[in-house]
Amino acid sequence: MKKLILSIFLPTFCLVCNQKSSYVCNKCFYSYLNIPYEQHCHVCGRAVRNRFVHIECSSKTNLDGLIFVSVYNNLVKDIIHHGKYEKNYGVFEDLGTITGQFVEKYYTFKDALITFVPLNSRRKAWRGFNQSEIFAKSIAEVLEFPVVNILSRIRNTKSQAGTSRKDRAENIKGAFELVDNNVDKYNTIILVDDVFTTGATLEECARTIKAKYPHIKVFGLTFAMSRLNDDSFKP
Ligand SMILES: [Zn+2]
Ligand SMILES: [Zn+2]
Repeated sequence: MKKLILSIFLPTFCLVCNQKSSYVCNKCFYSYLNIPYEQHCHVCGRAVRNRFVHIECSSKTNLDGLIFVSVYNNLVKDIIHHGKYEKNYGVFEDLGTITGQFVEKYYTFKDALITFVPLNSRRKAWRGFNQSEIFAKSIAEVLEFPVVNILSRIRNTKSQAGTSRKDRAENIKGAFELVDNNVDKYNTIILVDDVFTTGATLEECARTIKAKYPHIKVFGLTFAMSRLNDDSFKP
């Protein structure tokens, strides 16, 4: 209802085709962003069948798997960039709706808790919102799961842009702590972020959760994934 009222006063336009619609209209989503569904192992980027991560890759990750809707192509980059730097949180609400519907279509989660990557406090103060939180809440609305912030940043990290995978992992190490310790009634936690780039941030969040709750499955969920190296996969 809140959204309907807002849309009467503030019509939105598709960021791709400029038609009056949500920030990513159905037509543009299916034409440019929707990729053929296939599970990909986030460790090596190759396709994987009947599981989330290859057996040989599973010892290299804290995540039980990654779900993503689209590849991180230039169009997705522009849409997310617009949301982040034009401070337009509605973009992340709309991407969340698309992502929630995607998860509903292809996956079956029971009793999952949705959480999100906390933002560096300086950046949150500048932007006024945490895009991952807006995105997570919108996904949770579709899936009807609770969304709780269970992680806190205990130190601000340097900007990750342009740094190597190894540097990012070093930079983010020990940056989070678990603030809600009442999560053990859940078997599954869905950890939301806007984009999976090197995976360093999601890995560190998952490591922090599993340090206390090793039995809980932690899946990453992002709108886009930038590490795909399957040659058969052409976005
Ligand atoms: Zn469009
Ligand atoms: Zn793999």
